[in-house]
Amino acid sequence: MSNTRALVTGAGGFIGHHLVKYLVRKGYWVRGVDAKRPEYEATAAHEFELLDLRRFDNCLIATRGVDEVYHLAADMGGIGYITAFHADIARNSAMINLHTLEAARLNGAERFLFSSSACVYPQYLQDSSDVTNLKEEDAYPAEPEEGYGTEKLFMESLCQYYREDYGFETRIARFHNVYGPLGTYDGGKEKAPAAICRKVALASDGDEIEIWGDGEQTRSFMYVDDCVEGIYRIMRSDYGQPLNLGTDELVSINQLVDLVSEIAGKRIDKRHDLSKPQGVRGRNSDNTKLRQVLGWEPRVSLREGLTRTYPWIASELQGVTRVPELAR
Ligand code: NAD
Repeated sequence: MSNTRALVTGAGGFIGHHLVKYLVRKGYWVRGVDAKRPEYEATAAHEFELLDLRRFDNCLIATRGVDEVYHLAADMGGIGYITAFHADIARNSAMINLHTLEAARLNGAERFLFSSSACVYPQYLQDSSDVTNLKEEDAYPAEPEEGYGTEKLFMESLCQYYREDYGFETRIARFHNVYGPLGTYDGGKEKAPAAICRKVALASDGDEIEIWGDGEQTRSFMYVDDCVEGIYRIMRSDYGQPLNLGTDELVSINQLVDLVSEIAGKRIDKRHDLSKPQGVRGRNSDNTKLRQVLGWEPRVSLREGLTRTYPWIASELQGVTRVPELAR
């Protein structure tokens, strides 16, 4: 594997940064590309280029001379962000995706992995906390998350057309809520686990923190190490259809808060703000196909993953000076 040359787009972001480290450890030569550098530690990539991938000329530069493209760059964020900016997200990510896929094909890459999302699944299957786990074929008839999910679903189809029309080896992984150290924990683009870790870390024993919605909405959460291993395994497989990549350990947001509080060793009360977006009511991954195709599935429990994530966020916050603002 040591002769393989890989491009990771989104290498300045959360999952991309972890993936670069993973591939370098596997012996790959890795180029990272992003519009920004990783925020919390230096990249492990052999080469790192700052490029705006909405531009086709930049995508041609990014994809030159590589065997495999792990395409993670996207305009994305937590539920607050993806609910508020449908046009920006759909336009930016569509340009990034169309151009990166075509440039990778023209430059002769052998394989291309697209990071899709559980947000492609129809809203009408996710209106109860007591969910039926989502299977890959449930994506149609389609009613995805507006903006972000709609664009992901279109790109999944484009990957399929490239495979059929050009014989380009595309892979599609539908990630379900990824969390872990070195992920965004403030600023508006953070996801629920990081936001809750931040709020608990900033609270004192016995304090109250704000929770979006009534907290009974349910999700599954995947630790980032499982995510990057799953990406690697899906790329190596010969399976070109979409595959779920997530855990099927379902929890409510209230349970997530209780777990983080327990790990932090604090008694925390919840104040529910029903005016805030909460996304779909319930969502879980059906991993039947993932197990069939890979003989593997994510294995880090939520407790174990949060036990590694919470201390990182808490220690980051100790170095932050604008604590009162973050606490709000
Ligand atoms: P992230 O925001 O940390 O990383 C995305 C990166 O893309 C960022 O570093 C950003 O700077 C970069 N990017 C955005 N616009 C760009 C542009 N025009 N040119 C170059 N780079 C640009 O997000 P992440 O959590 O690491 O997600 C990685 C991928 O996984 C995304 O495609 C995302 O949609 C998908 N995904 C993530 C999750 C999750 O829970 N984190 C869930 C489902 C899907």
